[in-house]
Amino acid sequence: MSRVLSPREILDRLVSFPTVSRDSNLDLIDWVEAYLASHGIEATRVPSPDGTKSALFALGGAAEPGGVILSGHTDVVPVDGQDWHSDPFSVTERDGKLYGRGCVDMKGFDAIAIWACVEAQRQGLARPVQLALSYDEEVGIIGCEEMIAAMREALPPVEGAIIGEPSMMQVVTGHKGGAGYNVDVRGFEVHSSLQHTGVNAIMEGARLIQWVNDRNEELAAAEPGPLAAMFEPPFTTIHIGVIEGGTAHNITALDCHFAVSFRCVPGDEMSGWDTRLREAAAAIDARMKAVRPSAGITLTERFSVPPLEPEEQGRAEALARALTGDNGTHVVSYGTEAGHFQNYGYSAVVCGPGSIEQAHQPDEYITVEQFEAGIGFARDLLRHLSA
Ligand SMILES: [Zn+2]
Repeated sequence: MSRVLSPREILDRLVSFPTVSRDSNLDLIDWVEAYLASHGIEATRVPSPDGTKSALFALGGAAEPGGVILSGHTDVVPVDGQDWHSDPFSVTERDGKLYGRGCVDMKGFDAIAIWACVEAQRQGLARPVQLALSYDEEVGIIGCEEMIAAMREALPPVEGAIIGEPSMMQVVTGHKGGAGYNVDVRGFEVHSSLQHTGVNAIMEGARLIQWVNDRNEELAAAEPGPLAAMFEPPFTTIHIGVIEGGTAHNITALDCHFAVSFRCVPGDEMSGWDTRLREAAAAIDARMKAVRPSAGITLTERFSVPPLEPEEQGRAEALARALTGDNGTHVVSYGTEAGHFQNYGYSAVVCGPGSIEQAHQPDEYITVEQFEAGIGFARDLLRHLSA
């Protein structure tokens, strides 16, 4: 049995693996798996479809009902083009802060969760800590669903799931859901003096963009329901963040590509928006094909994130409130894996150390104070599970 590492020592190891979402996380997963195994915990991998990445789940303590899931993602956003004052893939402590890529989002919580899982095993807790580590969270929350499904099959039911995204240890009970699409518009090139005989991919794509603008105006003007009113802004938003297309000012554009993403307030179903977006695209597609049958619009869904809906008498919420003493109402407008856990029937909340404001930034950090608060939370959780 190997030496028990402190949360801080585990954090050092986790940050040293440059698990940027576009790259493999298998070195990190190998390390976690071996570390857990050295303390008698057998972890289960849930590999990505292409095998270059993996999620991992494990159980520390007795394989009995009534435990708690601690969930985090292993991937981090890139550091390209960012001005860092120390090595992003090495934890550097200065002025009461731990600097490093992922320190706050969210290897700090991952380290605490791994530590707690090993503690639960060492203490032989009758109610276990279930550890859940995913991949590809930062590229649309796409690497956790299979893991959650596999956990539900393999492990006993739990009191709740705590997703440790940075919330300053506040108990977040709701977040928006959403989905992202790539839109590929294929036109037909002619000299622009004859544009009536061609199809301009940019100008046809603009029709769909205008559709988005019109929906945003309607959404902003509507009276929010009580659930939506908790959010800022209190309505669903639709966003287009990138676009490219065309080759020259006097050629009707052959191609135009852009990305549409939705952030839906709980209660506003993404499935309905999927239908409406596809109908709008189909109408434009038909116009284009009437001029040139080879022209058209293709929609490809990149990701879909279910919202986290505040639960009535939620068990995860009650537990997190008891452990943190936080009785405030908190919802956030970004997505997390909590919505997926809830979708699979788990009671779920977001509660983790550090501030989302330092996530994705150059010189990302978690304060030592928040890291310690996270460790204190885990200690109190272990006490709760042993009671
Ligand atoms: Zn995160």
